[in-house]
Amino acid sequence: MPSIFLVGFMASGKSEVSRVLAKRLNMPCVDLDSVIEEQTGMSIASLFEQEGQAGFRLRERAVLRDVCDGEAQVVATGGGTPCQSELLEMMQGAGIVVNLATELPTALARVGAQRASRPLLSQSETEIETLYRLRAPIYRRANISVSTEGKRPEAVARDVEYALSNALPKSGSNGCVVALGERSYPVHTEYGCLETLADSIASRLPQVRRIGLVSDDNVGALYGASLRDSLEASGYEVVTSTVVPGEKSKNLEVFGALANEMISGGLDRSSAIVALGGGVVGDLAGFLAASLYRGIPIVQVPTTLLAMTDSSVGGKTGINSELGKNLIGAFWQPTLVWSDPTTLQTLPQRERRAAFGELVKYALLDAGLWDTVESLAPVLGAEELEASEELGDLVRGCANVKAAIVSADERESGLRATLNLGHTVGHAIELHAGFGNVLHGEAVALGLLATCRVSNRLGLCDAELEARVAAILEIAGLDTDLDAWMRPEVLERMKVDKKRTGSSVRFIALTQPGDVRLHEIELSEIIGLLLTN
Ligand code: ADP
Ligand code: ZN
Repeated sequence: MPSIFLVGFMASGKSEVSRVLAKRLNMPCVDLDSVIEEQTGMSIASLFEQEGQAGFRLRERAVLRDVCDGEAQVVATGGGTPCQSELLEMMQGAGIVVNLATELPTALARVGAQRASRPLLSQSETEIETLYRLRAPIYRRANISVSTEGKRPEAVARDVEYALSNALPKSGSNGCVVALGERSYPVHTEYGCLETLADSIASRLPQVRRIGLVSDDNVGALYGASLRDSLEASGYEVVTSTVVPGEKSKNLEVFGALANEMISGGLDRSSAIVALGGGVVGDLAGFLAASLYRGIPIVQVPTTLLAMTDSSVGGKTGINSELGKNLIGAFWQPTLVWSDPTTLQTLPQRERRAAFGELVKYALLDAGLWDTVESLAPVLGAEELEASEELGDLVRGCANVKAAIVSADERESGLRATLNLGHTVGHAIELHAGFGNVLHGEAVALGLLATCRVSNRLGLCDAELEARVAAILEIAGLDTDLDAWMRPEVLERMKVDKKRTGSSVRFIALTQPGDVRLHEIELSEIIGLLLTN
């Protein structure tokens, strides 16, 4: 086991959990702040007073350097340690970074008692809240986020251990883990990794002999045969099935036919499903796995940018009813998510561009992704996609944000709802245009612009944000003519949003990139704000 670095907001339990975890793993442990206090003979509070924030950060860097160079151990870091991106990278290079995810009200409650002894706690609650909003997205860049809500340090340490046992070698550089106790799983993103999927399945699912390989006609023709061959070469029996590409395959009829094919093909309770394709295949095959023999493992192998960064992570599966999208489904977490960005090379330009809308969403959820998203805008919009390490990093970064959010809120009670940024208006546009006419990501891109506009009119952000978002979307070649869609008949479509409670919605507003606010607001008010010039 390499070194484990615990990061998280003040009072998230880093020191205590580090001690319990170290004992469980039989490793030494160290507390960065204590080391600094020992070295200087001063409390952190007086150090801050005497040397200021900058002086303290220098000492912190030096101590962390020594720790990274030394033996493997469990390290409790300071609240600000990963906020210097250089230090976060240093830790990721030396081991695995684990975020102890704590919600703001919990943090505030726990902090209450500790005010006097901690330097940054002399601040007011509002100041702590501001700090929390800035830092929460940074902590989510850890390879693993484990929720601490309602758990004692022992339970947190146990869940960290579960997650760690699901981390793949090289997790620090190639992936992350969705931490859900015993159902934890790795999300791996690496060029060329399709070739080694069989080995990974063998180690994650040792009991499996038969695999149901589900794909669609396009993806199946491109990657199905070679994947099948490599699975068979590793000794698996493979039952292959492909569906017609596109959203219309997500229905009960296709679902039933697929189930029959898998059963008659010989899949049994100890088999697994592999979903090779975009969101449609992932949703359909995921739901099949959730219900076949009351649930068998699913391995998600996403081949679209949208699926790699979003739909393959988090366990939402399902099909459409005649009455609406995704109305029949289940939460069914995968055993493994295996993304090979090489497959993006063949993804149609329009699909790539559309997915860019969701990437901008991630950059608005984590401002640290903004620069990479911006620099890749022309690359993803271009006719031919140029493969690059930077693109791999971006896919990994977005999947990481998704994994962290799902780990903290599997069933969408709060935080996970922030992933719907831009989707309230986006869905209305998608629905009005007719599915397929405007792609999901294209609608989300417009929805993000609408979010900026509403947020500005609510007094939450300045008008510049909308222009900034429009500029980056335009570089990727996306439609940014929001005005063309701001008509009553389009906006009225928001009224069928299933996330609505009564006449109000939980609107995800923005103050700046990286700082979102859940805003309970009447639909009529949003419509009013968007219809005024
Ligand atoms: P999404 O993930 O965007 O929901 P879909 O599953 O609807 O995607 O796939 C979008 C389209 O792109 C489909 O026609 C699908 O067959 C095709 N497709 C998916 N992945 C690839 C790929 N890697 N190369 C070529 N075409 C692909
Ligand atoms: Zn979406």
